[in-house]
Amino acid sequence: MILSEFLTSLQSQFASAGIATARLDAEVLVCHVLGLDRAGIIMQHNRVLNDEELHELNDLGTRRAGRVPVAYLTGKKEFYSLEFSVTPDVLIPRPETEFLVDYAIYYAPQGGRVLDIGTGSGAIAIAVKHTRRDLEVYASDISEKALKVAQVNSHTLLDDNGVRFFRGDCFDPFHGEQFHVIVSNPPYVDPALKNSLQDELSHEPQSALFAGDCGRAIIVKIIDQSHPFLYPGGVVLIEIGAEMKDFIMEYGPRRGYDISIASDYAGFARVAVLKRR
Ligand code: GLN
Repeated sequence: MILSEFLTSLQSQFASAGIATARLDAEVLVCHVLGLDRAGIIMQHNRVLNDEELHELNDLGTRRAGRVPVAYLTGKKEFYSLEFSVTPDVLIPRPETEFLVDYAIYYAPQGGRVLDIGTGSGAIAIAVKHTRRDLEVYASDISEKALKVAQVNSHTLLDDNGVRFFRGDCFDPFHGEQFHVIVSNPPYVDPALKNSLQDELSHEPQSALFAGDCGRAIIVKIIDQSHPFLYPGGVVLIEIGAEMKDFIMEYGPRRGYDISIASDYAGFARVAVLKRR
């Protein structure tokens, strides 16, 4: 079978599985297996696929049609213009989370200390350090497996003076330490929504997505515990669900913070900025 025909059949397999980005996903998987970029697909549209290539592509196609996210099939995801390795042990970095990096870079003073709570693939911490080499960047995760992925990414994308990783729940590894910026993309999806979400989410680590108390539990924990870990005037930056805006605006001031909420490019409330008074 030739490449262009295979692409068309893969696209229709994905479309029948209800995947909205059928053509894009088919192209990304073909590029991955054949080692091409998207221009290469056009230039080699008449290329005859050999048995080995077809076997691998059919296998990936079946898994994608079963709604495994593309990033887990290729093992990589671009975030903040850097290519991160991802496995099912970590949440796939989302474009909207790039805002957290922007805000962390904006608020961190020269030579300042930044902490990323629940770092997962290390995306936020590594993107911050990659952009601002002057900063001391620390990161924690409760999952040993996630930290392994983060360390691989740190090793690949940064030099040896990269991010310092610690295993532990929230602030546990950092007693007695203070930071200028604390940043986190915690789990914040309401478990009651589980059955109405995209099938792809069921392949990601559930502990990185869902949190009790309608999705608020970990966000509240971070707000409640963060004060002693912040230098005066420091900020906590937390990714939130749009529906949490009013709650955070009301809760933050009760815990000693001035609050502002920033929206993402889609217009949804996305980043809570909490300044220590
Ligand atoms: N924004 C993600 C989603 O809805 C959730 C990420 C998270 O819980 N931190 O897919």
